[in-house]
Amino acid sequence: MTNQKMMPNQMIGILGAGQLGKMLGQSAQKMGYKVAMYDTKEACGFGVSHQTMIGDFDDEKKVLDFARSVDSLTYEFENINGQILNRLADEDQFLQGNFLLLKSQHRLIEKEWLNDIGLETVPFKKVSSASDLTTALSELGYPAVLKTCRFGYDGKGQVVIRNEAELNDLQEEIQAIIEQEAILEAFCPFKFEASVIVSRNHAGDIECFPPTENIHREGILAASINSSRLTDELKEKIVQAGTKIAKEANLIGVCGVELFVKENGSLVVNEVAPRPHNTGHYTIEACQLSQFDQHILALTNRPLIKPALLKPAISINILGQHMTMLEELMDTLPEALIHIYDKGEAKDQRKMGHFTILCDSEDELDEYLKSTFIAQWLDLIGEE
Ligand code: AMP
Repeated sequence: MTNQKMMPNQMIGILGAGQLGKMLGQSAQKMGYKVAMYDTKEACGFGVSHQTMIGDFDDEKKVLDFARSVDSLTYEFENINGQILNRLADEDQFLQGNFLLLKSQHRLIEKEWLNDIGLETVPFKKVSSASDLTTALSELGYPAVLKTCRFGYDGKGQVVIRNEAELNDLQEEIQAIIEQEAILEAFCPFKFEASVIVSRNHAGDIECFPPTENIHREGILAASINSSRLTDELKEKIVQAGTKIAKEANLIGVCGVELFVKENGSLVVNEVAPRPHNTGHYTIEACQLSQFDQHILALTNRPLIKPALLKPAISINILGQHMTMLEELMDTLPEALIHIYDKGEAKDQRKMGHFTILCDSEDELDEYLKSTFIAQWLDLIGEE
């Protein structure tokens, strides 16, 4: 594999042209790289691409043609065809590789791997039939979360089963999940959720962005906060978990690691996303370089930069149902740094943008969170 740095004007290819691809493309262009994007249809990232290609992610010929037409290939989401990318394993333009991609595409494989490298997950069982589910429920107990092993995101493809009555009431949803490969997870009674964006380059250098506390509603990320609940000790433990994952996976680029923080302060890894992550959007303004910048540095074989938090921040998602409140947001919080991804139709629960507020202190950040406007904003998530 090459040790050459990429220089401006070389081409970075991104599989997927959603908001993550778009923000990656913007970082790459800022550094002078050219950007090509591939997606199944016209997507928001195409607006910032030098070249675009439309095709299916399972179209082996097209994906490989695209991959071989660029100097460095990456992806913006994990539900792409990892097997096709196997064909690029020994090619210089796929420095990033797909080891972690293949792990993260399958919840069961991901959790087994996390346990193998010594990281705690919730207890889990494979479920392929109704009788497997009964056995798994008797072993793990209620409440439990039934999830598809593949293609789940933003709370889709999963259902919480709280008791036997719900097991009966939710049969339709449960059946739909069991028909695919499924996993039952013990419900984790976490104190709060957290995440870290970890990065590693070809030279093996590892840098983590400051961890955040995350608020989810209905399985969707609502807000990420540089919270005072993340003590130095907790942050250190979270960074250690992220570093372990990066090292064991020989990560190239950034990766988001989502965790549950339990009442006693112990950590459970929930999920790994081998790409820039929604909980890292705050880094665009709150750090001296963003998660997207760092990903491009790693991909182009350059030294990483140690991220520094310039100001504590709160970053809040703008979903489809929030779009009618955009003007009110601009008027009520003129200090909000608003990002709109240009994704077209504002469907309920669809991520359309986010806004970040930089604070002078964690106390100020708490005040924002308690404000009526932000409380109303967060309450809108989950209503359809
Ligand atoms: P996931 O798609 O696995 O990231 O799940 C989305 C969200 O659902 C998580 O961020 C949690 O808020 C919640 N969740 C998922 N799995 C569990 C679990 N085993 N225990 C408790 N909450 C969970």
